[in-house]
Amino acid sequence: MKINVTSPKVVKELMDRYSIAPLKRYGQNFLIDGNIAGKIAAAAVPEGACALEIGPGLGALTARLADRAKAVAAYEIDAGLVRALKDTFSDAHNLTIFHQDFLKADLEKDLKTLFNDGDIYVAANLPYYITSPCIMNLVTARLNIKRITVMIQKEVAERICAAPGSRDYGAISAAVSFFAIPRMLFAVTPACFYPKPDVHSAVMTLEMKTHHTENEKDYLKTVKGLFAKRRKTVKSNLRQSFGLSMDEADAVLKKVGIDENARAEMLSVSDFIKISQELFDNSKIL
Ligand code: SAM
Repeated sequence: MKINVTSPKVVKELMDRYSIAPLKRYGQNFLIDGNIAGKIAAAAVPEGACALEIGPGLGALTARLADRAKAVAAYEIDAGLVRALKDTFSDAHNLTIFHQDFLKADLEKDLKTLFNDGDIYVAANLPYYITSPCIMNLVTARLNIKRITVMIQKEVAERICAAPGSRDYGAISAAVSFFAIPRMLFAVTPACFYPKPDVHSAVMTLEMKTHHTENEKDYLKTVKGLFAKRRKTVKSNLRQSFGLSMDEADAVLKKVGIDENARAEMLSVSDFIKISQELFDNSKIL
């Protein structure tokens, strides 16, 4: 790869050559700051590891990943960008481009042999319209994912990284924190993209915890149910979301040692786990 795909001039030339224009519906805001692309790749992927990229676009991050990683798998939904990428990276033999909607990909099938069961490091400048489903797909995937480093809308990154009791803490923070330890890395201004997005961005990393449990679906149902009406108490959400009677809801809270006036935004991952166990393992609901 001899061209600099973070140069605004080159981005425009590639768009002309392949008759493509940035598509809003695919969240296409291309990174035109090589320094940021380098910082993301360095934070995301150890030298010689296996890298998974979502939405390579014209290859701003892909180029840095292909330089560092032993093997790179990149999923791109847009046929025009896939044509451009295949030409730009024709000599990058460690790169496999999947022309596919990442949310519909069979990751286990695609990656098991490609990465030979090695540890996987995810790097992406995510399309912002599907940030949450992408992250949830990744953290719940039955793959050896070690770390996920993503550039996303700054507000969403703040929510994911928020601690219980803080203003930003919500269902997404509690859901993601079951699987991974989130950490904010750095902010990125709209001027670093073409076209400029309306929002500010941030790069964050999720260090995966080692476990996958049989009960993770129950945990996610519990978080969703208890945050269903954010302003209501946990007790009220227990009744509304899970059909418990007043006495049953009281009994659950008493058993797990949570105040009857508590709201979901005060609860830690271990509180949600305890409630989930009460609800599902101890058959409070069917
Ligand atoms: N990585 C490039 C960069 O940093 O310049 C492009 C980032 S752009 C914010 C998001 C990319 O994700 C676009 O290339 C877009 O076409 C692609 N994309 C959008 N939806 C996708 C999906 N469901 N599956 C795979 N790629 C998708």
